[in-house]
Amino acid sequence: MNTPNCPRCAAATTTLGSALPWCPGCEWNLDAYDGAAQPAEFGWRWVDRRLHRMAFRLAQRQFAALVKADLARKATVSRFVVVSVALVLYAVFAAMVVGGVLLVLKDFLSWWILPGAVLLALAWLLRPRLGRLDDLDGHEVTRDEAPNLFALLDEVAGAVGTTTPPTVLVDGDLNAYTTAVGFRRRRVLGLGLPLWAVLEPQERVALLGHEFGHFVNSDRRRSLLVQPALRMLGQTAMLLRPGFGSAGGSVLNMIAEVVSRVVMSLLSKALLLGQIALLWIGLRDGQRAEYQADGIAARVAGTTGAIALEEVLAAGSVVHMLVARDARAGNGPATWRASVADGGFRGGARTAARLQLSIREEASLFATHPPAGLRARMMRERAYLEPAVRLTPGRAEAIDAELTKHYEAARRDLKHA
Ligand SMILES: [Zn+2]
Ligand SMILES: [Zn+2]
Repeated sequence: MNTPNCPRCAAATTTLGSALPWCPGCEWNLDAYDGAAQPAEFGWRWVDRRLHRMAFRLAQRQFAALVKADLARKATVSRFVVVSVALVLYAVFAAMVVGGVLLVLKDFLSWWILPGAVLLALAWLLRPRLGRLDDLDGHEVTRDEAPNLFALLDEVAGAVGTTTPPTVLVDGDLNAYTTAVGFRRRRVLGLGLPLWAVLEPQERVALLGHEFGHFVNSDRRRSLLVQPALRMLGQTAMLLRPGFGSAGGSVLNMIAEVVSRVVMSLLSKALLLGQIALLWIGLRDGQRAEYQADGIAARVAGTTGAIALEEVLAAGSVVHMLVARDARAGNGPATWRASVADGGFRGGARTAARLQLSIREEASLFATHPPAGLRARMMRERAYLEPAVRLTPGRAEAIDAELTKHYEAARRDLKHA
């Protein structure tokens, strides 16, 4: 590494891989747009550069506002925006259904039935959906099958102030999630076994603390009112892709097409508004919810374990490479964990540089999470916390033993990945 000194504070600058150098002290040039390392978001370089700078500044500003604040405080303005968008979408949906029915019934069995049917078919495609358990990947782990795992889940849930979700799914991803499905909002915990395997005991507690934290941090992206509306937006975006609705021959087909064109252009306007609002939510509300879940993770697992989890996640792509390599060689979770432990992803100068660089590379207006570097910094700058739940290595091993069959399935998946 032969990098020049910082023009602002004269300290030695640093870099990682082929990244543009920055100053680890005053963070000079950390906001630089690195076209080679950054995925194009708009496609025009000068626009992407501006979007990146805007996202970088917004993330910094939000961090500064939250680091001294009570993370549990509810953001009323963003709630208002989210709920308004949801209501507008439901109104569009209702108008389509009512309009479709009126057209079908107008001079019943006349040719008006056709545009009516088109409208109703569109409404059916866009209908608000609550999500179904069957749509989720992964294998279910039951309480009987894994009593030690569920004992830990119960303990962490209790410390967070919630209850263990009735459904726990395991899969082969380097990830974990919680969600709610169906009208009754049945809660689901998804645990990616490659991630679970490589984590040390307190990092596992932190992972569960963060995920369960989403049940109590008033994350409106999952509510009964908002989640189906967000899904409608996704469906609309799919329908409006070019190529949908090709030209037909008969007069009736042409009428149907004119009706659907009008509907589509109205929908695309609604979609645009929805997306602008979503951007807002993504930045303000979702990221605040992530910081808040991290705060809960630190309270349950202790600051040290929660930060170590963040460090492992920041090295995600390298960690995934190591696990896949071990899986291909026929090795199981104990080897995965040892490889990651030897990888030097926790602590040290290289980890600090990786976290700092994430603030540049993960800055995006479309990001659902704040950059790993800012999340770790948020925990470091708040009061240091001792663990409320301790997982001994013995208990962690007992849990792994319960999951043997599932680990084997995950290893086979990774081998073919
Ligand atoms: Zn400097
Ligand atoms: Zn989260």
